[in-house]
Amino acid sequence: MTDLGCELLGAVDDEDREYALSDYEGARARWCPGCGDHSVLTAVQKLLTAEQLKPETTVFVSGIGCSSRFPHYLTTYGFHGIHGRALPVATGIKLHRPDLDVFVVMGDGDCTSIGAGHWVHALRYNPDLTVMLLDNSIYGLTKNQTSPTTPQGLVSNTQPRGSLLPPLNPLTVALGVTNASFIAQTAEFVPAHLYATLRAAHKHRGLAFVRILQRCPIYTPGIYGEAVKKPSLIELLVHDDGVNVPGLEKIYQQRRQHDPRDLAAARELAQSPEPIRLGVFYRDPSRICYETLRRVPARTASERLTLLETELDRYAV
Ligand code: SF4
Repeated sequence: MTDLGCELLGAVDDEDREYALSDYEGARARWCPGCGDHSVLTAVQKLLTAEQLKPETTVFVSGIGCSSRFPHYLTTYGFHGIHGRALPVATGIKLHRPDLDVFVVMGDGDCTSIGAGHWVHALRYNPDLTVMLLDNSIYGLTKNQTSPTTPQGLVSNTQPRGSLLPPLNPLTVALGVTNASFIAQTAEFVPAHLYATLRAAHKHRGLAFVRILQRCPIYTPGIYGEAVKKPSLIELLVHDDGVNVPGLEKIYQQRRQHDPRDLAAARELAQSPEPIRLGVFYRDPSRICYETLRRVPARTASERLTLLETELDRYAV
């Protein structure tokens, strides 16, 4: 259509269109009042607006759980999948349409239990995805069952005498996977840090894994209640290559310099649940994405690696 035709119809060329936050708002969120998922949705809508991501080239993929209702609340494309399978679906989308911005939303049961195999291998394949683990330490949608990240001793419907095992630590698991390229932790109750972390994750090329500590006031009200009231329980990891939020140091005075390139230090810091550490634990932008590797027309692995070393720009999507 000619420019004149567009003008006559009142159509706006997509390239010139400016998106407002309301352009990304889907159905009214039906999470419980006070649920941390609301805070994450707000940060994501803010990110989409700041980056001006086109709804028609953005996809949110989720599994099953309270947080997995996410795609319904956005006007982007969405795929509300089956339990634990968000990552293979998202990887498939990215391999076939590397031009799309693909986000993944999972809960702790979804990602670290039934989806654990997919989680580990997606980290290793390192497709260019922004992956959010909304960790409220319980199965909320199915009403109060112990998940892998439930604190030891916490009473649930499935373990009425208290959870028997110490919780799985998603950070140390992710930091142990070969070829993982971005591992961060943030909290929905520190909204400025949440937003800055999601922004850094989205800018990262490769799989950016962000564990978001999330309140569930219905089933695990005690887990982050203290941390919300006492900033001294939180330590911010800061570095020029990490997440730095101006002004946050006035509230969160515990700060630690941590170079996200230092994997050994990241593993050490991730071991301890206290203080609650927020920031980028690890980032290596030089890791190769699987969709890039697949494009290299070579027959053997060594030929492929040689071509990648010499002509990476040619194959990067
Ligand atoms: Fe949120 Fe918990 Fe309610 Fe689920 S049960 S919507 S996680 S507050």
